[in-house]
Amino acid sequence: MRAAGLVVARALDLVVASARPGMTTGALDALAEELIRSEDARPSFPEVPGYRHTLCTSVNDEVVHGIPGARVLVEGDLLSVDCGAIYQGWHGDAAVSVIVGGAGAGRPEDLELIAATEDSLWAGAAALAVGAPLHDVGAAVEDSIHASGERAGRVYGIVEDYVGHAIGREMHLDPQIPNYRVHGSSPTVRDTFTGAIEPMVTLGTDQTRVLADGWTVVTVDGTRAAHWEHTVLVREEGLWVLTAHDGGQARLQAHGARFAPLT
Ligand code: MG
Ligand code: MG
Repeated sequence: MRAAGLVVARALDLVVASARPGMTTGALDALAEELIRSEDARPSFPEVPGYRHTLCTSVNDEVVHGIPGARVLVEGDLLSVDCGAIYQGWHGDAAVSVIVGGAGAGRPEDLELIAATEDSLWAGAAALAVGAPLHDVGAAVEDSIHASGERAGRVYGIVEDYVGHAIGREMHLDPQIPNYRVHGSSPTVRDTFTGAIEPMVTLGTDQTRVLADGWTVVTVDGTRAAHWEHTVLVREEGLWVLTAHDGGQARLQAHGARFAPLT
């Protein structure tokens, strides 16, 4: 899964480095597919029935599951890219959000949203521990987003319609991992659990709808959204973020979690 995670990390690096005004989301998809296949891996999203692309590219008010195609990126767009790959039967799944044209082209509120969403991902990941309730993740994500919102003087929407998930030999395994505080019983995190933590956060409400294409999820109020995701391994010794080049060491430790790579 580490190998699969690094393929995903390199594909996302390439997409982020390549995304610029005037480029189509379909061209980004082709770049990612080529890189993944060149590493003897294959994209996982085409294994979801009815979907045939390597990436999901969600722009501005699109939250997740945007379909790559003829859409031309514009300077200042908030682009979220989700990527999954399979290497020797094992899955990696990660997502990033960036401003097309670089941070200097971004609206301040979009930059803050992106940073808040990314930080909530790390807060959620850091809440993973063997023997702990899995739902501690959602509580940590929610608390992180609320704290970021207070600092920025706004109320963010935490999307509840889509959630994280366990991952391994398949991309989407049970149990689900909500990005919000869940009351009641929770699964307990076991040694060697692998999960995809993926908060989706908006500048408005948490309400979403699906466009007529059957895939693209947008905010009902038209506000912009960000999406970050990593695949994380949990062991007694600590955590290893399989889709991060550095295994997540710095960000995990900043959130008080133990970093424990296998290599
Ligand atoms: Mg994903
Ligand atoms: Mg996922």
